[in-house]
Amino acid sequence: MSDSRGTFDRIRALLEEGAIAPTPSNYEFLYRYVTGADPQLVEAVDGARREHGQLADRNLAHIRRDLYGTGRAGVGKVLEDTEQQLARMNDYIERQDAGARDYASKLSRSDLDASATLERQRQMLADMIEATNQMLSTTEQLQAELAASSREIDILKADLEIARVDARSDALTGLSNRKACCDYLDAQLDRAFAEDRPLSLIFLDIDHFKKFNDNFGHRMGDEVLRLVSASLERFFHGRGFVARWGGEEFVIVMPMHEAEDATQFAERFRQHIGSRAVKGSQSGREVGRVTLSLGVAGLIAGDSAQTLIDRADAALYDAKADGRDRVVCWKAAA
Ligand code: GH3
Ligand code: MG
Ligand code: MG
Repeated sequence: MSDSRGTFDRIRALLEEGAIAPTPSNYEFLYRYVTGADPQLVEAVDGARREHGQLADRNLAHIRRDLYGTGRAGVGKVLEDTEQQLARMNDYIERQDAGARDYASKLSRSDLDASATLERQRQMLADMIEATNQMLSTTEQLQAELAASSREIDILKADLEIARVDARSDALTGLSNRKACCDYLDAQLDRAFAEDRPLSLIFLDIDHFKKFNDNFGHRMGDEVLRLVSASLERFFHGRGFVARWGGEEFVIVMPMHEAEDATQFAERFRQHIGSRAVKGSQSGREVGRVTLSLGVAGLIAGDSAQTLIDRADAALYDAKADGRDRVVCWKAAA
């Protein structure tokens, strides 16, 4: 009990010391530091405190990037950092403004008049020179802070871009992920209905994929996934949007294609993949043929993304049940 009290007090002291925003992610960061959860983080924080005398938001951001990478920070964290950076810039500008007003008031008070004694005139001049020098040095300091802040914003912009890409792509294959696919499908569905154009969806599943893992190891399984992904991307380039749905399942959305058309492409792709023996690129080991089952469905009146996906999935199920290594196009029951 006293331990957790001590931990809490130390975190609060660190937050206050560096005027760090008490956000959940900063709290979690400092919790890891105070409890020594990550030796690398402890070393980096101690280093920053030694160098700067205290820990600031900026140090937290740099340590996060260095140790955990931007992808881990995520879009939310980048936005949080950007917001803080903008608040800091606003603060600089307000300070600059206050400095300028202070300077103006000093000048207006020191109206040099000819009747003042020489001594008084000298003093006034000296005061004005001092106020001007002070103003110049404050301006220079604020300009440097603004320049540093704008460099930080540039880094944050780059981080945001990486985080955005990370959130929409699959780490293993580099293909779009399910989230990106669903967004795309929603948008394309609206367009297809609005413009009265066809749209088809292919659901693809690698047959007996588990055996590649079981017989050759998980890494070879990964390699087969990457190989199928790269082939999909090449084959459907300019024809459809390819995504990894999950595991060994892929989806291809084909705007402007009727189901019959999409079925032909699916069949050609199945033959293309099945026609060669696959070899591991590093080991050179042969893993044999990779066969695919594919289900195709075309958009019909009243469809939602979900009903279209469900029909393609049902067709894929039939392809599996019929013996695998084939394409089935969904047909309405007669
Ligand atoms: P079916 O012909 O019925 O589709 O059989 P299957 O073996 O392909 O399907 P099952 O669902 O039984 O097994 C899929 C396997 O895919 C199980 C899982 O461990 C593996 N898997 C899922 N994601 C990955 C991955 O990213 N890498 C590797 N190497 N394996 C994965
Ligand atoms: Mg599967
Ligand atoms: Mg499978």
